[in-house]
Amino acid sequence: MPPARILIVEDNAASRDLMSYLLSAFGHTVLVAENGMEGVDQGRRLVPDLIVSDVQLPDIGGFEVARRLHDDPLTKAIPLVAVTALAMVGDRERVLAAGFDGYLPKPIDPEAFVGQIEDFLPLRLRTSQPGTLKFNCCRAEEREH
Ligand code: MN
Repeated sequence: MPPARILIVEDNAASRDLMSYLLSAFGHTVLVAENGMEGVDQGRRLVPDLIVSDVQLPDIGGFEVARRLHDDPLTKAIPLVAVTALAMVGDRERVLAAGFDGYLPKPIDPEAFVGQIEDFLPLRLRTSQPGTLKFNCCRAEEREH
């Protein structure tokens, strides 16, 4: 099965590394951006199969990232998934209204993450099979946004 090219937009290094590790472990090609502007730029330049973005970013923020990607014909069709510590009632609706296709709350669940992300990929780009990998390495410290 061919891997997907997945762009991660996340300013928190620990969270970025964890997502990168998990997606790479399932054979995906991971691209990273450390802030919103870089994320939009990388999205336009690399046109990945999927973009995972934090919402609380140091510069333009995930909602603005979503708006810019959605307004650009080059990137508007790319599935865009928010990963965020925002957990208040109504946040899910706000995230979807901003142009994201889906929403995963932090902390990331290492055993479920890849499968959750692959729900937004076409079948031909999915590599995970339930129960094929078990992680016992990953810390539960993903509190920071
Ligand atoms: Mn953040």
